[in-house]
Amino acid sequence: MPQSDSDGVIPTKTIQISVVIPAFEEELQIERTVEVIDAHLRPAGVAHQYILVDDGSRDGTWRVIESLAARRPDVCAVRLSRNFGKEAAICAGLQALHPEFSDACIVMDADLQHPPEVLPRLLAKWREGFHIVEGVKISRGRESIANRIGARVFYRTLGRLSGVNLDNASDLKLLDRKVLESWNRLSEKNTFFRGLVPWLGFSHATVPFDVAERAGGTSKWSKLQLARLAVNAITSFSSLPLQIVTILGLCFLAGSLVLGIQTLYMYLSGIAVTGFTTVILLLLIIGSAIMISLGIIGIYISKIFDEVKGRPRFIVAETVHAREAARVAGLTSPRAPSP
Ligand code: UDP
Ligand code: MG
Repeated sequence: MPQSDSDGVIPTKTIQISVVIPAFEEELQIERTVEVIDAHLRPAGVAHQYILVDDGSRDGTWRVIESLAARRPDVCAVRLSRNFGKEAAICAGLQALHPEFSDACIVMDADLQHPPEVLPRLLAKWREGFHIVEGVKISRGRESIANRIGARVFYRTLGRLSGVNLDNASDLKLLDRKVLESWNRLSEKNTFFRGLVPWLGFSHATVPFDVAERAGGTSKWSKLQLARLAVNAITSFSSLPLQIVTILGLCFLAGSLVLGIQTLYMYLSGIAVTGFTTVILLLLIIGSAIMISLGIIGIYISKIFDEVKGRPRFIVAETVHAREAARVAGLTSPRAPSP
């Protein structure tokens, strides 16, 4: 959607797309990923640039990205000061690109599991006028049974608790500039990209795709990180768990009323039994219910604590070609902000 700015400067090439790729220990294939994406975007006739974010990798990922940026001025490299996680790396990439230079951006993985063959279809939907185009997984690729079950339980729970249906959703997304500008206005520190993008609203289309095999290396998500992401996502979108604590409390109150009446009756009628087992069981049940409830409340308090501290979502150690990448990819002057 090329448009002129107030000085009448019209982009030299056709459309400007920024491709944001978070990369954590992807030295084996990051360069090939860029080449394959090139091969699919060039025929589509779009001027494009890359924002490659190294999420504190300990292998040679930064070396590869940096040398790529040295050879190709349309590659912007961002290095985070440590591993902040994929969500933060995506935020860093979206923040590094200059919305005034981009008509849209595409977020995708560095391991080619989001097949670049779908990119022309994402662009076609965007050209039809949709502001958000999401890649939706038809199949989840090769995955352990535990991960498959975990994902299913997580999405079902999230759907039930928050009404947000993210079944088969992925981080492969195309965002129009308007959406990008709204994203950059979000101030929360704990982001869940996949869930927050639909929350922004705007018109929305989906493009199905099959998750491909990893191009190289292995997935770096540990079970603990996945569990943390799931808890973070659920508590970001729903406060229902807190209300469940109250409901649990009410259930116990009802139970204790019944038991209280029974105990009093037995005492008054002189047949009070030495209900030792009952006492122990009650203690255990109530004790664990209180602990779990406190835990749930604790999660929310820690989230409030994180937000109140106001620390940045990530820290950038260095960047290469931040502005240059946009200029080289085909624009001579920033565009006017969208109306
Ligand atoms: N990633 C990242 N930081 C991390 C973990 C992963 O930037 O701490 C990137 C990774 O390099 C890849 C994408 O996020 O581009 C998806 O990660 P991965 O392939 O490990 O996850 P999976 O495909 O198993 O969901
Ligand atoms: Mg992957």
